[in-house]
Amino acid sequence: MADIKSVEAADVRGKRVLVRVDFNVPVKEGAVTDDTRIRAALPTITYLLEHGAKVILMSHRGRPSGKGFEEEFSIKPAAERLAQLVDAPVAVASDVAGENAHEMADKLQPGEILVLENLRFDPREKKNDPSFCEELASLAEVYVNDAFGTAHRAHASTTGVAHLLPAYAGFLLAGEVQTLSGMLAEPKRPFVAILGGSKVSDKVGVIDALIDKADTIIIGGGMCFTFLMAKGFEVGTSLKEEDWVERARAMMEKAQAAGCELLLPVDVVAADKFAEDANTVTCAADAIPADMMGLDIGPETEKLYANAIAGGTTVFWNGPMGVFEMKAFEHGTRAVCEAVAANEEAATIIGGGDSVAAVNKFDMADRMTFISTGGGASMELVEGKALSGVEALK
Ligand code: ADP
Ligand code: MG
Repeated sequence: MADIKSVEAADVRGKRVLVRVDFNVPVKEGAVTDDTRIRAALPTITYLLEHGAKVILMSHRGRPSGKGFEEEFSIKPAAERLAQLVDAPVAVASDVAGENAHEMADKLQPGEILVLENLRFDPREKKNDPSFCEELASLAEVYVNDAFGTAHRAHASTTGVAHLLPAYAGFLLAGEVQTLSGMLAEPKRPFVAILGGSKVSDKVGVIDALIDKADTIIIGGGMCFTFLMAKGFEVGTSLKEEDWVERARAMMEKAQAAGCELLLPVDVVAADKFAEDANTVTCAADAIPADMMGLDIGPETEKLYANAIAGGTTVFWNGPMGVFEMKAFEHGTRAVCEAVAANEEAATIIGGGDSVAAVNKFDMADRMTFISTGGGASMELVEGKALSGVEALK
């Protein structure tokens, strides 16, 4: 962290400051339906306004075709929501870094905000095209990246432009990098990592990295069945990745050699179909009926896991324990969530889109120490990968 500079180190008074934010928010009938990401950028935006900067914001939103303006993906609804949250005038450019954006940027006064149109209206954004980087950079004198959620992408607005202007980290991005790298570099022990979600194949890098760091790893979610198969259990019609059984076995051996305790479910809730109204049974992990699928961890496992979580001083959680979107299979995820929230002594860190959604669904967000806003980006950091958007700030 010492090697990236905070926005607080920048001289921004009277200057045009180009800020990459993550305003990739859902919109319905022209209105933002979840403004979490806009709110997450407010500390940096407010800081810049208070320090007399002319603030130029840029973000992508959704997946436009990349052939110019498309109303459906306009940044306007996000800018309108922002205008309700800040005490400053907010204008929107009709293009990304074209004539209108330049004209408006020239006229911008300290304490005012200009929002550029959706970066991905220009196909050069994702290609990190040098000409587009130049066009963006020529709008401003200082660059700030506060879009942690896209920090793992080497795009013009996250990487290329950072090399053309004095570049700084916004508060959101800096906080994410500090918390997640701090957790890995010097975790207060015992360090308990809870990993779930759907597939082992999605998370091998994360599991592998955490085996090296954590004292205890708790496995749940769809991925646990591949591990149970590696133990030689039959798992019925549960989600399984036959090609990954060997890899799962190798990870179990690696954990054992590293002195990392790896916990697997001792019982599961199995269903006769993937549906809310399925018939269910609770059975031991080695007695899953051949025609049924495990969709949640069972009550004995909940107790085992809650106990392990209570013993942690650093607790990291990524991935739901079951199909928490369905009421019938949310119990295990809720129990784990409750156990994490209840451990008030520990630094509790939540990462991953669905895990964060689960924490919010159970209304326990304010009981956690840190909730990461970046799904893919936080997983790559935990895996130990360098994020190109962060590297570009060095
Ligand atoms: P995150 O976004 O937090 O990283 P993932 O995307 O890896 O988490 O996984 C979340 C998904 O895993 C959820 O949609 C959930 O329904 C699914 N899941 C959890 N347990 C199971 C299971 N036993 N079988 C099938 N899918 C599962
Ligand atoms: Mg997910």
